[in-house]
Amino acid sequence: MFGDKATRSIGRATRPTLELVATTETSSAFSAGRRYLAERLVASVTLARTWDATLDQRTCRQCAALDGATVPLRDRFPGGARPGEVHPGCRCIEGALPAFLLEL
Ligand SMILES: [Zn+2]
Repeated sequence: MFGDKATRSIGRATRPTLELVATTETSSAFSAGRRYLAERLVASVTLARTWDATLDQRTCRQCAALDGATVPLRDRFPGGARPGEVHPGCRCIEGALPAFLLEL
């Protein structure tokens, strides 16, 4: 595949050099594969927003009721509420998951 000249060059390479080349090429190929899959995934998956409240004795009723709410990515949560902005000290956060996992 690489010809006689390349084969002779490999034959003269030291073990550390060969290990360096193998390590670099393996990492590069692995990363390229992951990048390829990530790009295909992003292009093919519809994301949804999720509401995640911290559920404990300090959680207010409104935040508790919104916990687990899911809406399409560009939609608002019920009542127009925003995670982390329901009230001072709100500990809610927003997440994003593929919509097919959330049955939207
Ligand atoms: Zn909250």
